[in-house]
Order: sequence, then C-alpha cells, then structure tokens
Amino acid sequence: MSTRSIEHIFSPAQPHMVGDGFKVHNYIPSRIGGFERMDPFLMLDYNAPWQVPAGKRPLGVDVHPHRGFETVTIAYQGRVAHHDSAGNSGVIGEGEVQWMTAASGVLHKEYHEEEFTRTGGTFQMVQLWVNLPAKYKMSPPKYQGITRDQIAHYQLPSGMGELELIAGSYAGVQGPASTFSPVSLINAKLKAGGTAEFNFPAHHNTAVVIISGTFNVNGREARANDFVLLKNDGTQFTLEAIEAGIALVMSGEPLREPIAAHGPFVMNTRQQLIEAFNDFQAGKFGTLE
Ligand code: MN
Repeated sequence: MSTRSIEHIFSPAQPHMVGDGFKVHNYIPSRIGGFERMDPFLMLDYNAPWQVPAGKRPLGVDVHPHRGFETVTIAYQGRVAHHDSAGNSGVIGEGEVQWMTAASGVLHKEYHEEEFTRTGGTFQMVQLWVNLPAKYKMSPPKYQGITRDQIAHYQLPSGMGELELIAGSYAGVQGPASTFSPVSLINAKLKAGGTAEFNFPAHHNTAVVIISGTFNVNGREARANDFVLLKNDGTQFTLEAIEAGIALVMSGEPLREPIAAHGPFVMNTRQQLIEAFNDFQAGKFGTLE
C-alpha cells in the first residue's frame, strides 16, 4: 500500500446562486480546472451552511432538463423537494440522498420543502453530477431515494465515529446506491481524535469535502467547507478529526470517454448535444408546470 499525496486544498470561492434557493460554491469543474480531473464526477456544487429566512414562496430552481448523467443530492441541513415530468416527486430530508439517473432525459424542478420554507433555518447540501458511461447515456431515467435507514454504517473501532456508506463499500459493508461505474461516496462522521483509513485504486479520482469540523488529511489540515484534492500517486489516505465533524469522501474510476457538455446536457459528441437540445425543444422530455 502506498500513500496518496495531497494535490491541493481548496477553500471555497465566492458562492453563486442556482435559481433563488441554492447558494453554492462550485468546486468541480471550475476550481479544479475542468471535467477531466475528477472524472467520472462532472460537477460538485457545495451549498455551505446558509441561514434561510422564513418565507412564503419556496425558493429553488424552476423547471429544467438533464440528459446524459446522474445528479446526486445529499441534504445535510434543511430539506429539498423535487417534482419531475414523469410524475415523480418527493422530499430529500436531512441525512438523506437522492440519486437521480437522468440518462435519456428528465425535466424537473428543485425547491426548498414547504415546511422548511415556512420556518426557515440552516440549509446545507451537496449536489454532485456523476457522468454515465457512453453506453448508458440514453437508458431510461430512474430514481434511488436513499433514506436514513437505508444508508449502511460501519462503526469505527473504540467508538470514535462511524462511516455512512452511500455508494461503494468499506470493510465488507456495502452502500445502497447502485451505480453504472465504480463510485464510492462515504460520509465519515468522526469524533475529535477519531481516524479512518481509506484505500482506493490509485487511478480512481479521489477528493474529500469537509462538511463540518476540522480534519487532518494525511497530516494536512483542512477546515469546514474546504475541498481536498488527492493525487493519483498512491492508494491510501487517512482522515483524522481535530475537531469532531463530517467529511464526504468521494472516489471513482475515470470513464476516460469524450465529454461534450452544454449546460444541463453532458454527452460524448457535439452531434448528441444538438440532438439533446432539439429533443428538449420538441417537448420529448415531457412537460412540467
Ligand atoms: Mn436539476
């Protein structure tokens, strides 16, 4: 086993609004310099804790399409509601995950949940876009709503914390999400002084988002809201909590396929992008008010 070194620790850049409900720090692709570096992860919008005032009208993003990839929404604080053109709807509660395979096409909207809108409160979430292998880009859309009791747990020795497995496995414990390529997504919840060691194949692109607390990542200090990009020069790294907190560990096998991206469409060729746009204009993604 060889140690994976740290490429860079990014602190959050200026946030921007997505619709009027999501105040996000983009890490992938803008901070790390493109789609290739964290392949198969195409995009990471991180909504750092944000105090949302009580309101009457749900804030969020109005109707928009997606094609060619998956959106993974992890709610840490606050609740998100969604509706789509196939009649699916639901709420992503605190500690829950929605894994939406847009694939051939979904039209949806994402908002703060009604009750959260009325009371206001702290809002913190991650939205990750995971690319689909070329052969699955036009497969039927599907959802995996991953509730708290479906997330798999691994207890660290001597009660120093636990790992919540969303996708991938750790020490024989398997996360519930089914994926189209090897992807690991793990929340490491550590008490102060707790450590957890991770091993992923060296060529798997790997990063850690510090959701709360302060961590040493292979001995380098990273604070809440930082993004730690690891190199592909080894397999192993260690998280140590200096202050108790949560670190989101993400790792995936790169697809190494051509990327043609425009807004909410991520395909392999420019021709496929034009088709996506034409299909959307022709109403083939369905309708949603
Ligand atoms: Mn969306």
